[in-house]
Amino acid sequence: MNTYTWIEKSLKTIHKANWYRAVKPLSGRAGAIIELDGQPVINFASNDYLGLAGDERLIQAAVIATQHYGTGSTGSRLLSGHRDLHRQLELAIASLKQTQDAIVFSSGYLANIGTIAALVGQRDLILGDQYNHSSLKNGAILSGATVLNYQHCNLEDLEQQLKQNRTNYRRCLMTTDSVFSMDGDLCPLPELYHLAEQFNAMLLIDEAHATGVLGKTGAGVVEHFNLTGKPLIQIGTLSKALGSLGGYVAGEKLLIDYLRNRAPTWIYTTGLSPADTAAALQAIKIIKNEPERIHNLWQNVKQIKTKLTQKYTILPSESPILCLEQNNPTKALEFAQKLQTGGIFVPAIRPPTVPTSRLRFSIMATHSQAHLDQLFQHLELEK
Ligand SMILES: *Cc1c(COP(=O)(O)O)cnc(C)c1O
Repeated sequence: MNTYTWIEKSLKTIHKANWYRAVKPLSGRAGAIIELDGQPVINFASNDYLGLAGDERLIQAAVIATQHYGTGSTGSRLLSGHRDLHRQLELAIASLKQTQDAIVFSSGYLANIGTIAALVGQRDLILGDQYNHSSLKNGAILSGATVLNYQHCNLEDLEQQLKQNRTNYRRCLMTTDSVFSMDGDLCPLPELYHLAEQFNAMLLIDEAHATGVLGKTGAGVVEHFNLTGKPLIQIGTLSKALGSLGGYVAGEKLLIDYLRNRAPTWIYTTGLSPADTAAALQAIKIIKNEPERIHNLWQNVKQIKTKLTQKYTILPSESPILCLEQNNPTKALEFAQKLQTGGIFVPAIRPPTVPTSRLRFSIMATHSQAHLDQLFQHLELEK
């Protein structure tokens, strides 16, 4: 026995439960068709909802920024890592989100961790949805605040916990995904906002899967529910529909100014690379100039959803994430494998990531009718 034998044992347990995960190398440029194990497959597995990650214009923007500034930003933003380009991106995000200001982080994960740590501490309370993203949950733990979860989208449970606990703490922060990433449903934002007002709580909403996807102009679920301009803490990522890498917080000027002075994952980390910054900036321009992308995305979602429900039970969804529930991890893996053999790439999502196994389709604006038809054929759905 040595100090590290437990690791092997632990891995064995993971294998036994069919919970073991390994990376799958994809080749070729990001897009609706990618190469997996040397075979071209239709991609229903990416977060690249608008097909921008492989867009020539983003690539060119990244190349030009790299030539101009170099590959790295060489320091933290407060020391030597700040470029004009970063500020341009922040202003573009604020404009897309229709907020007073915005700040970019190196990833959405870091945006959540740093923001939560800056907003609450040991004398405070966090109330989070049970299905929140890992970054919200770990951010909550790291903040040192008391953390309570409420049942998924359950307003009665949340209200009950607010009534019981709110007065025992200084500040209160409610946290929620806006689109739940492994299910595809939306948080009940208007009701959450109302409770936040009633109990004097801050409300942080993670728009990772909604930015560039929901709302009339792609601003997200806040826009979808007509809550633009309300005092919310809106977090998102540049790595999903925006096709780049990085995270953001959008909100009131004072909030953003405060985060620049208090968010440890912004202060003590290197500024976003010029390439990522320029690509994200270009993506926002395209989203503004080509609203047909969002339109195409929703047309595809509508068609696939209608077809799937002919034969399968899908989890409640109001987003481009559609899930077919499976009885167990083995079934989910077999189904995914069968589709992959037919040239369709859909991931099987299993515990412990989610409570129940499922096939998780994410739909893209750039899936063509031929791609959809091939999917329907392999799922043996009627024409
Ligand atoms: C993807 C995701 C993140 C993390 O964003 P990254 O930029 O990839 O680090 C945070 N929250 C949610 C809900 C996500 O889906």
